[in-house]
Amino acid sequence: MALIFTFPCGGCGRRYSVYYPKALMYELSGSGTRQMGEAEDEAERASGAIEAARARAEAQGNIWVDAGVALEVRCECGKRLDVNLMHHPRVPVTKPSVLKRQTGLIPFPTVSKPARGTGG
Ligand SMILES: [Zn+2]
Repeated sequence: MALIFTFPCGGCGRRYSVYYPKALMYELSGSGTRQMGEAEDEAERASGAIEAARARAEAQGNIWVDAGVALEVRCECGKRLDVNLMHHPRVPVTKPSVLKRQTGLIPFPTVSKPARGTGG
């Protein structure tokens, strides 16, 4: 799974979808070597997962950023956006359980109008 986070710009609210290649994550976190990540990144790129994610983000009007290329983005509004995950220890993690679609029928509220017309 490609690691992609969406950040809104604090200045203007433009949304940025930031892709974090594994090579970068391993390097930043120190949990592995860049070479380890590069193999995984290659496999993901080859499978088309990255392009698909990019197309999806852009379809939503988000601006695509590859954190492997730049860890800092300059927004059109002039604000500097630091997309280095290591500087954001509290990145909201999407809980899969929240995304689970709820099934079931939503009962319509029954509105009962009192039919009390005076016959005339
Ligand atoms: Zn902005």
